[in-house]
Amino acid sequence: TPTKIKKPKWLKVKLPTGESYKKVRGLVDEHQLHTICESGNCPNMGECWGAGTATFMILGNICTRSCGFCAVDTGKPLEADIFEPARVAQSVKLMEVKHAVITSVDRDDLPDGGSEIWAATVRAIRRQSPGTTMETLIPDFGGKWDNLQRIIDVAPEIVSHNLETVRRLTKEVRIQAKYDRSLEVLLRLKKGGMRTKSGVMLGLGETYQEVIETMDDLRSVNVDILTLGQYLQPTPKHLPVAEFVTPELFAEFKEIGLSKGFRYVESGPLVRSSYHAEKHMF
Ligand code: SF4
Ligand code: SF4
Repeated sequence: TPTKIKKPKWLKVKLPTGESYKKVRGLVDEHQLHTICESGNCPNMGECWGAGTATFMILGNICTRSCGFCAVDTGKPLEADIFEPARVAQSVKLMEVKHAVITSVDRDDLPDGGSEIWAATVRAIRRQSPGTTMETLIPDFGGKWDNLQRIIDVAPEIVSHNLETVRRLTKEVRIQAKYDRSLEVLLRLKKGGMRTKSGVMLGLGETYQEVIETMDDLRSVNVDILTLGQYLQPTPKHLPVAEFVTPELFAEFKEIGLSKGFRYVESGPLVRSSYHAEKHMF
């Protein structure tokens, strides 16, 4: 196994501050609300919450998959909770979220892949907070396209599906997924009229040329928004970091991405797929 490499200084983050952040913080504590921003210990909380963005995870916290980079537990999930959509919508409302990012574990155990709860969540948020825009970061639904259609039918403002890594590393990084199936998800979303987005983590051992190819593949299915961020190993049991990509190289990828026709490219060491999400509402 490769020896662990030291974290460079550009990954140091400031503690979250700011008046709007503090207000959200107070609401979260008061109502004991649950966000991925917090449970994932995300470095961008000050910025995102301050800008009115937060991420919520639905369909429980046990995943049927076991991606090598992901800190979510793998196992047999609990039964789907039909009250979850209302609860998440209530949190969005209490936190006064302007742009809600919703994501989920993968539920390959459910015939509908969780798509009914997904759709109900989007509808519940819309009902309770009509001014709030939404980004849904969805799974591939195992290629069951009827389930994907349920998302298209409720038409969130942005639909994202992360490619996570380059083609060559897909098997190692997200074993139950397929690179081409993910591209097909994005293509079908686009054909359904969605504004689409995808994220890729860097530092897993991909080459410069492979990053460029991945951008081309995403543009070939007309993805609108791209996020590129540094992979960080959540625990020693997860895939090791192969490289810390420099801020300069992230900036270069951003320029290349924009020149390839992405409407937005967020590219930087601390970028997460929901970072600056509120800015992508063009
Ligand atoms: Fe939350 Fe995503 Fe922002 Fe992190 S990047 S604070 S998870 S919205
Ligand atoms: Fe984590 Fe998503 Fe992979 Fe499940 S499918 S292990 S939640 S990245």
